[in-house]
Amino acid sequence: MEIKQLIDSLRNELNQHNYNYYVLDNPVISDFEFDQKLKNLQELEAKHPEYFDENSPTQRVGGSITKNFQTITHQNRMYSLDNSYSKEDLLDWEKRIQKILGNVSLQYTCELKYDGASISITYENGKLKRAVTRGDGFQGDDVTTNIKTIKSVPLQLQGDYPENFEIRGEIILPLEGFAKMNQQLLDEGKVPYANPRNTASGSLKLQDSSEVAKRPLDCLLYTFIGSDVKFATHFESLEKARSFGFKVPNEAKLAKNIQEVFQFLEYWDEHRHELPYETDGVVIKVNNLHFQDELGYTAKAPRWAIAYKFKAEQVATKLNSITYQVGRTGAITPVANLEPVQLGGTTVKRASLHNADQIEKLDIRVGDMVFVEKGGEIIPKIIGVDFTKRNQDLLPTVYITNCPECQTELIRKEDEAQHYCPNFYGCPPQIIGRIQHFISRKAMDIEGLGGETVALLFNNHLVQNYADLYELTVEQIIPLERMAQKSAENLVNGIEKSKEIPFERVLFALGIRYVGETVAKKLAKHYQNIENLAKASVMDLILVDEIGERIAQSVVEFFENAENQILIQRLKEYGVQLEVKTVYNPEATTILEGKTFVVSGVFEKFSRDELKKAIEDNGGKVSGSISSKTNFVIAGENMGPAKLEKASSLGIPIISEDDFIVMIG
Ligand code: AMP
Ligand code: ZN
Repeated sequence: MEIKQLIDSLRNELNQHNYNYYVLDNPVISDFEFDQKLKNLQELEAKHPEYFDENSPTQRVGGSITKNFQTITHQNRMYSLDNSYSKEDLLDWEKRIQKILGNVSLQYTCELKYDGASISITYENGKLKRAVTRGDGFQGDDVTTNIKTIKSVPLQLQGDYPENFEIRGEIILPLEGFAKMNQQLLDEGKVPYANPRNTASGSLKLQDSSEVAKRPLDCLLYTFIGSDVKFATHFESLEKARSFGFKVPNEAKLAKNIQEVFQFLEYWDEHRHELPYETDGVVIKVNNLHFQDELGYTAKAPRWAIAYKFKAEQVATKLNSITYQVGRTGAITPVANLEPVQLGGTTVKRASLHNADQIEKLDIRVGDMVFVEKGGEIIPKIIGVDFTKRNQDLLPTVYITNCPECQTELIRKEDEAQHYCPNFYGCPPQIIGRIQHFISRKAMDIEGLGGETVALLFNNHLVQNYADLYELTVEQIIPLERMAQKSAENLVNGIEKSKEIPFERVLFALGIRYVGETVAKKLAKHYQNIENLAKASVMDLILVDEIGERIAQSVVEFFENAENQILIQRLKEYGVQLEVKTVYNPEATTILEGKTFVVSGVFEKFSRDELKKAIEDNGGKVSGSISSKTNFVIAGENMGPAKLEKASSLGIPIISEDDFIVMIG
């Protein structure tokens, strides 16, 4: 092969591997192989300086020193964004733009607001030409050599990219890289950085680009500029940017209306700390690019976009210890025990740490000064470590491998962040949690019994499961702490009364994983009793409206379990409702026993549901379709012709609602 060809093919290959690793997060070769190929290319380029290319992947390691960054005037001004802080603000914004556009319906692209330093990058014929900082919005600094060292910034584009354009994005320092960088500085006895945003923007102005190359910076893109760029919508432009090789976070979503924007805001207000990078809000943009043009800019910001800032109050405090809680499903939640601190009007002593990944990502260690934040959520969260205060003696947190309550080895399912204790039937908090769920208000709603009493009953070996509740006696309960004759009687009476709770709530109370209130209702209605449900296969279950595979699997597993089968048998013996009960009706008879009816059309004296109920109340059955088993078809107005024909061809009598009234007397 010609040298030039060899060089080109190595460059292409390395570009592709960089893309796989840094943009797609999906490397296909080992780091070692990559380094070998890079070294190969470096040697060839050194021997053949005539083939130098400023966009070769070898340039990513940096090395050039910039004493003074050249000032560049932006071809298009880099604006700020207006801020909003509430749904009302956003509704006002929508009204303002609808006034300009004339009441059109609007779709929006929602993106997270990446917290870093903005950058403008120019590409010509698919090659990176220049990168400029925002500066004052009119003029910025040429930081091309530094930007080229960021591996997720493509030096050569792929696909059907426009000839010339500018793309804008944010240079950020992801949290995990930030924590690693700081720990390394501390190991070297140096001063760590305070926060990722300032570190990212400071990095752009480093004089030695090889220093920039060492920082785990990332570049997330969000806007195209230029007359060669011809897309219809902003969302489409993001998808195109991805196809050219740019990194555009998948969190960006299209919202069909402002309500969907609100859903996006609510979701990320709660989940933003699970992201690999920092965000302080959401940017909402009018999706249609013609509308964007029409709306234009104010003196400071585009009219077609607005930033929404999350409410958040932050304080720093000391992390005294980490404990681990076991939930009723066995899920482990790490909890931070903090030096008490005032936050948003309350004293905070504990905060959520989410899961093992989160602790590792932020490199949280016991003894650290940590930042605690309270946003829309109820439980405060730890969002970072103050590395400037880290004591070098602190040890990295080692996540527990065994259940803190029953010592069983924890498991972690492939696509789940949480660890689980698999000892479903022997792990005390899981048992107690399940009984607590069973008695809760939306489930069996047992009066006189609270969560703490359940724990008390369990710890005194009076109950091991929810079926045991039904064998409790007043004598057993009286000796317990804070119990007396009266309260013990109330408790037993409360349990007795729970036998009237309808099947759908019993089903919810059983605590089958993924079977919440709504799903329990659906299943109860469809299967009518527990035997039918217990017999159902995964396939059967999936065919039920709104029941997915995950739920189906969980239901089948529950009923396959021998201990659950015993529990259910016992509940049945105690008289707990395990079937849908038709309400007692004094007018009910058995006149229609053994008769099957099909109801079709619209009626005068009954609604269709009333008619069906009347059939069932009198012992008859209602079927949805006509077959040889049908005894009568009750026809109202507008009965479908197909049904009429089928009934006549099978010789099934067709009767009117008046005939029916006579029939039931
Ligand atoms: P501000 O500096 O608060 O006025 O906010 C404007 C800045 O937000 C822009 O200059 C961008 O650097 C930054 N930004 C972060 N994420 C986005 C995004 N998804 N879309 C637009 N701008 C963003
Ligand atoms: Zn356990």
